[in-house]
Amino acid sequence: MKTLKIATIPGDGIGTEVVPAAIEVLKTVSEIHGGLSFAFTDFPYSCEYYLEHGVMMPDEGLEKLKDFDSIFLGAVGNVKLVPDHISLWGLLIKIRREFEQVINIRPAKVIPGVRSPLVHPKDFDLIVVRENSEGEYSEVGGRIYQGEDELAIQNSIFSRKGSERAMRYAFELASKRKKHVTSATKSNGIVHSMPFWDEVFKEVAKDYPAISTDSQHIDALAAFFVTHPERFDVIVASNLFGDVLTDIGAAIMGSVGIAPAANINVNGKYPSMFEPVHGSAPDIIGKGIANPIGQIWTAKMMLDHFDETELGTLLLDVVESVSNDGILTPDIGGKHSTKEVTDEIINRLKQRA
Ligand code: ATP
Repeated sequence: MKTLKIATIPGDGIGTEVVPAAIEVLKTVSEIHGGLSFAFTDFPYSCEYYLEHGVMMPDEGLEKLKDFDSIFLGAVGNVKLVPDHISLWGLLIKIRREFEQVINIRPAKVIPGVRSPLVHPKDFDLIVVRENSEGEYSEVGGRIYQGEDELAIQNSIFSRKGSERAMRYAFELASKRKKHVTSATKSNGIVHSMPFWDEVFKEVAKDYPAISTDSQHIDALAAFFVTHPERFDVIVASNLFGDVLTDIGAAIMGSVGIAPAANINVNGKYPSMFEPVHGSAPDIIGKGIANPIGQIWTAKMMLDHFDETELGTLLLDVVESVSNDGILTPDIGGKHSTKEVTDEIINRLKQRA
């Protein structure tokens, strides 16, 4: 029996509603599989925890989390209780940095029954691999002079190591999918970092002759996400470009409530962290209507990460059959509660056993 040790951090707001829902689903997955089990350990790190203890997580928190196979997180942040810079940096960003989660991956695909804002949503199924540790989001730079001469300087940092590992991850992923990688570039406007990025991409591509490639400028690429998302398979992008593309990806799916994400530690030294794209959704806390699909799809990504792809595919398949039958929460046009959607997913999983 394979047992995966999962640290669960429901966090804030609807995180405390959708994480327990996804845990129930994962327990059912384990029941139907037989050879796989999960050992869940809950951690209360959140804004409430901050109000009580003055920190989002204790100093020994990272030490404890280090021993888990992965971290399954709900949402962090509640500006009414704690300023965002404290809650995010004190928990989410701290974990991402300390555990070298250098890559962020976010899929976007048509989920049957969920209305996309696209006029002609074709059957798109893509995944963005975002370099998550450097690039445009660096702390190098500053401000000089004052008044009308004032200048702000922001430097981007692109290392060969950082760019290459994101690209290799993208190629490995594509080899299990439609075997195409698109690189997001802007070498016609950004004259140092982007030609470098293109160069590294070409070099890495040589190691994957079975994978076709193309490079597209980010402005055109963003437009294609809206007009022809079905053209893409895996897209590899720098930190800023990936940030923008993944938000478009979530938007064209129809709701932030269904979008999943993962922060990957590529060297296996530390746990990776799986968290949906949405935040704590303070406007719907306690109403029982939070969409659990984002968190459950995130659980599917966790299964894929542990090479349980058959189970991951089954799980998403069941989610899609439930949404296709109109069993939906209000954010995607339905009338069902978090519990009703979750229970239906669990029932159908049991039927597929
Ligand atoms: P953050 O800064 O943490 O991202 P936010 O309020 O900007 O917070 P979300 O918390 O994601 O972003 O909420 C944005 C909107 O989407 C809100 O109206 C919220 O109710 C809705 N929303 C987010 N997640 C869900 C979900 N799982 N189910 C239903 N609605 C959701």
